[in-house]
Amino acid sequence: MSHTREEHLWIPESDLEGMSVDTLSVRAGQIRTGQLEHSDAIFPTSSFVYGSAAQAAARFGGEEAGNIYSRFTNPTVQAFEGRIAAMEGGEKAVATASGMAAILSTCMSLLKTGDHVVCSRGVFGTTNVLFQKYMARFGVETTFVSLTDVDEWQAAIRAETRMLFIETPSNPLCEVADVEALAALAHDNDALLVVDNCFCTPILQRPLELGADLVIHSATKYLDGQGRCVGGVVVGPAKYLDEVYGFIRSAGPTMSPFNAWVFQKGLETLPIRMRAHCDNALELAKWLESQPSVEKVFYAGLESHPQHELAKQQQSGFGGMVSFTVKGGREQAWRFIDGTRMISITANLGDVKTTITHPATTTHGRLTPEDKVKAGITENLIRLSVGIEAIDDLKTDLERGFQALED
Ligand SMILES: *Cc1c(COP(=O)(O)O)cnc(C)c1O
Repeated sequence: MSHTREEHLWIPESDLEGMSVDTLSVRAGQIRTGQLEHSDAIFPTSSFVYGSAAQAAARFGGEEAGNIYSRFTNPTVQAFEGRIAAMEGGEKAVATASGMAAILSTCMSLLKTGDHVVCSRGVFGTTNVLFQKYMARFGVETTFVSLTDVDEWQAAIRAETRMLFIETPSNPLCEVADVEALAALAHDNDALLVVDNCFCTPILQRPLELGADLVIHSATKYLDGQGRCVGGVVVGPAKYLDEVYGFIRSAGPTMSPFNAWVFQKGLETLPIRMRAHCDNALELAKWLESQPSVEKVFYAGLESHPQHELAKQQQSGFGGMVSFTVKGGREQAWRFIDGTRMISITANLGDVKTTITHPATTTHGRLTPEDKVKAGITENLIRLSVGIEAIDDLKTDLERGFQALED
């Protein structure tokens, strides 16, 4: 070691090299001020001052690095970006106002009129709307294909294809894509593979290590983990992230310092939370499979899941999202949901509190009936975002749902 502790207000990146994601989630990216605070400082300021007119000119001209204005430079936001970049194994990260802003900023900075996107059919409902309605208006066409059928991806690729976009595991059916295979296909065709890593987080899956070019998060979900703030982030190599940064600097879908601080603190407990989510979800998925009123359970941790082996290879855990169908239709699904008492009825996911959702009429309600059928969003489908409550208490509450089906 060429330096002493005293020489550094915060831990230099080189001292964390090779450390595990569990350690990086607590230690990477911290910025410490001269007050020597142990916890992370927060900088709720829109602008920054200069020592002289010449320094202001140098900052604006880009000759001197430093803070300028919080639409594009804020230390709290940078601290969050540094931490999530380290955890995903990416060179750079750019934080955004929401997960959707992360997807939009990626598209706006890396695509142009005439480009073509191939996207998996089961993506988050709003992602689907963004591509089909808004990107289409600017001449970027999207073809939707099955997440799991690589041949369908191959067949959908055109000379203009510049981006393959996936969410794995998918929402809400927990289908798993072969990230390595799709990365190879993208690169053979001069296109980028973008992975929405919302369901796994870097604790369970690091798509960049599997060959993906960019990782996207809705930080609103597991990264926060306690349902407090809306935010997003894009992670990847500088050559792409500099473009994304240029877009958010000019267009303004920036993360606020307060939200960045909440997410940064959220990351510190992410490893232990993800393990608790995984344990509870696996136990509940098995238990649900044995219930007479349940038709089918969708969870990659179950041996009955068609991509169980693939999930075991590319993920270190199966995550906290479990979906299942009850016998019947919308009436039975709603009766089950209304029968529970503790579990929150809300569309949010990734919270320490367990939530229950009817995708067909909420998160995926804007899809056309035809698209719903294609995406497997049936009227009897229920999605659980399994939290970290005691497993027996979750079963007790779900049993109330099953009871309501019998009454
Ligand atoms: C919620 C979500 C998004 C969108 O994120 P927001 O923060 O709500 O804008 C994108 N992808 C997935 C998988 C999500 O669950």
